[in-house]
Amino acid sequence: MTFADLGLSDELLKAVSEAGYDTPTPIQAQAIPPVLMMKDIIGIAQTGTGKTASFVLPMIDILAHGRARALMPRSLILEPTRELAAQVAENFEKYGKYHKLNMALLIGGVQMGDQLKALEKGVDVLIATPGRLMDLFQRGKILLNGCSMLVIDEADRMLDMGFIPDIEEICTKLPAQRQTLLFSATMPPVIKKLADRFLSSPKSIEVARPATASTNITQRLVKVDSRKKREALRAMLEAEEVQSVVIFCNRKTTVRDLNKSLQRHGFKSGEIHGDIDQSARIAELERFRTGSVNILVASDVAARGLDIKGVSHVFNFDAPWHPDDYVHRIGRTGRAGAKGVAYTFVTADDAEAIDNIQKLIKQKIETIDAPAAAAPAEKVKQEPRRSDRDGKDDRKVDTRRDDRRREEPRAARPEANGASRPRRPVPVDDGPDEGWNGPVPEFLSVGFGA
Ligand code: AMP
Repeated sequence: MTFADLGLSDELLKAVSEAGYDTPTPIQAQAIPPVLMMKDIIGIAQTGTGKTASFVLPMIDILAHGRARALMPRSLILEPTRELAAQVAENFEKYGKYHKLNMALLIGGVQMGDQLKALEKGVDVLIATPGRLMDLFQRGKILLNGCSMLVIDEADRMLDMGFIPDIEEICTKLPAQRQTLLFSATMPPVIKKLADRFLSSPKSIEVARPATASTNITQRLVKVDSRKKREALRAMLEAEEVQSVVIFCNRKTTVRDLNKSLQRHGFKSGEIHGDIDQSARIAELERFRTGSVNILVASDVAARGLDIKGVSHVFNFDAPWHPDDYVHRIGRTGRAGAKGVAYTFVTADDAEAIDNIQKLIKQKIETIDAPAAAAPAEKVKQEPRRSDRDGKDDRKVDTRRDDRRREEPRAARPEANGASRPRRPVPVDDGPDEGWNGPVPEFLSVGFGA
C-alpha cells in the first residue's frame, strides 16, 4: 500500500514524499479514503500512530476547493493542549506547502495583534484549544457556522481536562450538516456518548497502541528507595548512553525541584509543566529539540503528544498514577522506528500502579535494581540518533555541563548523599498538571502553501 493508493491529490503526494514518508501507517491507510468520501470517523488511536496526518492530509484536499469568508473558518480542529495544537499546525505547513490555504492557531498566551486581523479575513483551518475558542466565541469575535468540518482530537484527554462541556457547546455552534472526525486513545462512556450525539453514522477505526505493539522500546522497572531516587537517576544518567531523555514526574513541584537538582549537579536539563508560560515552554522545547539541553523534566499534560525525534530514554521518576499515562510517557521514545529505553522508578508504594500498568499493556516488565551511585548501570545500546528536522548529523550531547561542579564536595549537597532534603510544604493547588489556565485567548495565524 502506498499513499498514491489512498486517493490523495498529486500535490499532496509530493509533499508527503518530500516529508520522507512512503508507506501510510495503519490509521492513515484506513482513515484517509473514508474521510475523502466525506464520512464521519471515530479513530481509536493515539499519538505515535501517524493519526495527525490521517486527518490533515484529506482535510487539505477537501479544503483545496472553496474559499473562507470573514470571521468564518471553514474547518475547526480542537486540541487539548497548546503543544498539540502547534504540532497540528506544523503538519498543515509541512503537507500543505503546495496548496493555498490559510490557517489560524487559537491558543492562550501568544500575542494577539495581527493574528486577530488574519482571522477576520477568514481562514480555511482554525486549530484551537476549547477554552480559548469558547472565550472568543462569547466575545463575538468568531462565527462557526461556516465550519463544515470538525476534528476533535485526543477526546479522552479533553475529558481528563474537563473540556467536554465546552466541546458539546462548540458542536452546537457548528452547522448540523458537517463532517466530524473524532480521535481518542480510549473510548470511555462519556466519549462514546459524545460521538453518538454529534457524529452521524461514523466509521470506527481502531489501531493498536503503539507502545504495546512496538518491541523497539526496552522497558524496565527500577527498584529504588523513595529517598534515593535522585541519586539513582544521576547514576543511571551517567552510566547509560543517554542522548536525550525525557524524565516524567507526577507533580509540578517535583518537576521543578528535580530540574534544579539536576542543574546543580551539572546536567544540562530543562523543564516543562503547566505553570510555565507559553513562550517559555516553546523556548524550553526548542532548547531540547536543538540539543542545548538533553534532559527535559516534564509533567504529563505538558509532554503529552510531544513529537521529538531522537529521544533515547524515558525515565518515569515517579510511577504514573494512571496506566494510560505510562503508555503515553514511554511513547516519547522509540518513535519512527528508532530504539528506545523506558525506565520506571518503583518504590514500595507503587505496587498497585505497576500492577495496573502491566494489566493494561498485557506484559510483565522486567525489574532491575537501582545502580549504586558509583557503579555503572547495565548499558542498553542505542541506535545512533537521527536528526529530526534539519538534516544535520546525529548528535551526542555531553550530559555534563561543568565538570568542576561535579568535583564539589558531596557533603555540600545533602541530597547527593541520599539524605532527604528539608521538605517544603506542598501548596494545595500544586497537584498534577491541569493543563493551561493562561491569559485570554490569542491568535497565531500562519498562511501556508504556494
Ligand atoms: P502522530 O501519531 O501524528 O503524532 O505521528 C507520529 C510520528 O509519525 C510523527 O513523527 C510523524 O511525522 C510520523 N509519521 C506520520 N506518518 C508517517 C508515515 N506514513 N510513515 C512514517 N512516519 C510517519
